[in-house]
Amino acid sequence: MGDRTPLVQLKGIGEKTAKLFAKLHVDTVEDLLNYYPRDYETFQDCVYIAEAEIGQMQAVYGTVCGMPNVKKVRNLTIINVLIKDATGGMQITFFNMPYLKNMLHNNAAFVFRGNIQAKGTAKIMEQPRIYKKEEYIGLLKNIQPRYSLTKGLSNQVILKAMKQALNNHLIQDGKYPEVFLKEYDLYSYKDALYGIHFPTDFDTLVKARKRIVFDEFFDFLFYLRENKEQSEQLINEYQMIETADTVRFLEQLPFSLTKSQKKVWAEIRNDLNGNFCMNRLIQGDVGSGKTIIAILALLMCVSNGYQGAMMAPTEVLATQHYEDVCGFVEKYHIAFKPALLVGSMTAKEKREIYASIASGDVNLIIGTHAVIQEKVIFKNLALVVTDEQHRFGVKQREILANKGHNPHVLVMSATPIPRTLAIILYGDLEISVIDELPANRLPIKNCVVNTSYRKKAYEFIEAEVRKGRQAYVICPMVEAGEMDELENVVEYADKLRGALSSDIQVATLHGKMRSGDKNRIMEEFAKHNIDVLVSTTVIEVGINVPNSTVMMVENAERFGLAQLHQLRGRVGRGEHQSYCIFVSAKDNKETMERLNILNHSNDGFHIASEDMKLRGPGDLFGIRQSGEFAFRIADIYSDSNILKMASEAVNKVIDGELTEAEYNRIKDFLKNTCGNKVDFRTI
Ligand code: ADP
Ligand code: MG
Repeated sequence: MGDRTPLVQLKGIGEKTAKLFAKLHVDTVEDLLNYYPRDYETFQDCVYIAEAEIGQMQAVYGTVCGMPNVKKVRNLTIINVLIKDATGGMQITFFNMPYLKNMLHNNAAFVFRGNIQAKGTAKIMEQPRIYKKEEYIGLLKNIQPRYSLTKGLSNQVILKAMKQALNNHLIQDGKYPEVFLKEYDLYSYKDALYGIHFPTDFDTLVKARKRIVFDEFFDFLFYLRENKEQSEQLINEYQMIETADTVRFLEQLPFSLTKSQKKVWAEIRNDLNGNFCMNRLIQGDVGSGKTIIAILALLMCVSNGYQGAMMAPTEVLATQHYEDVCGFVEKYHIAFKPALLVGSMTAKEKREIYASIASGDVNLIIGTHAVIQEKVIFKNLALVVTDEQHRFGVKQREILANKGHNPHVLVMSATPIPRTLAIILYGDLEISVIDELPANRLPIKNCVVNTSYRKKAYEFIEAEVRKGRQAYVICPMVEAGEMDELENVVEYADKLRGALSSDIQVATLHGKMRSGDKNRIMEEFAKHNIDVLVSTTVIEVGINVPNSTVMMVENAERFGLAQLHQLRGRVGRGEHQSYCIFVSAKDNKETMERLNILNHSNDGFHIASEDMKLRGPGDLFGIRQSGEFAFRIADIYSDSNILKMASEAVNKVIDGELTEAEYNRIKDFLKNTCGNKVDFRTI
């Protein structure tokens, strides 16, 4: 029951600042309160220069030796200065901060805090923050929230607005009965909001986060369970029989199904033929061959005279599926009359397709979200397949399912989730698992290295490109200024262009690009007009470019292992030997150990559960399996305990263990959130 006061009503926020907030989807006080920090900055005691660790954000207390050296390179002013402490020296570099020259005089002592980097055998810092000693001592043990920013909006402005919102606005509490708070050891909502935005210590932060994560899971699961109650007993209105088409198609395919695929196909056939409407998830690792199963199901559907639809999360993926299907039609003369429907088509093209969908001239519609838009009217939709389901909200799935009259629903996901969690998270779906890869695959070769290996890696990429292959390089950030200690796509691509021969085509791809541009780049890459693609994790979603053989991930330490595994799934999809290079900017033991799990396993389920075991509470911030299920801060892996708690709580509510008043109160809260905000949105 949030406060819908528009942000402009906060003191100090004018129209202009409000517009910047709107870019972050923060329009009201409620939105603001739910805009959680992306991570927290903590200030640790200074370390000795000799003990400073490469790749770590650390502070040293040093004395300036001699005069700073000021250089001008093109329009850049560079200041170099040497500092020393009792254990050693370190070179410090500043760009475009000429005024520091006077401050950094000989023998002046400061705390310098920044990312420790290696330069040859020496340690250096670039652009560190400078503090007076007393000032720094004041910051110690302080936990500063850092929010995702947008150009023109600083962390400071967000902090100020947040303080006001917290102190001057009513925060509705009391969603759960007291017994829940006690039993699950939860903060009140109000305490949680204070604790997540302005934690006084680490324990408070952990507990505040716990309450918010609990809420996210609770809302999601409650919504699922209520839907399941409604959908469980739906009668199968489209009973299908197995026709000769699927059998013949299977016989003609150049490969035979794996044992797992056969089992899953049998389950689906049974569903389609059975008494109840199908609501099934196929879970299978990347490359396990889910698509062919979906195509078989769709073929059974159309050869029984119905229409089928297949939704993919991106245009590129939809187009790929469409082209595959067209290829099959040409080669095997199967009964599909397919059409592609994506957002970038012209209005006229769309109108024509709408017409042939309504008339039944088209019996298989493949597309993106455009498919679920209102104008699409199906003649007799009987089966809806969604690929890479975690990118779709539960709601979108539901809208599409409602397009027809209770069509069968099949969703496919490569998200590796242990079965116990899958049962909770996909509570509304039956689960089929494909747990083996086709036999003809060459296993991917992996290595986990530190940043000193980059030069070699570039040589390797160059050699692969010379052989006619392609490569991906993944960076966690989009552009400079977001989090400077992490690599960003834009600057990295420039660096890489410098490091590779000039005839090698390097392009960038990231979530801040317009979707038309993203599609164009992915298509160009698929057509091999681009050799090396420097990208954020937007690439993670099922793109299939079998010619790519190298996946290099920068700042691999910042990613969840399950996510790294998904990224790895972008290579090794063709006949060529493929390679994965995980570059970690931290080479401490724990990080290397964690990443090494990837080195030794290609099994997504195994990886996800090992990752879960290794992560402690200190890892709760920063590393996330981004995207999946689109929770704001909850992570299904590291928060699996909270997930189980929330699941138990939801069961209690649904099974009627609460009083009617308590139940209604929860419903009221959910009406206010589920209706719009917590929409499990896609990214
Ligand atoms: P994913 O499960 O990641 O969606 P795909 O369905 O895209 O995987 O399959 C990856 C590749 O494996 C495709 O080129 C597909 O034709 C091929 N494939 C699928 N099943 C088999 C099989 N049983 N034997 C050999 N190749 C297969
Ligand atoms: Mg796939």
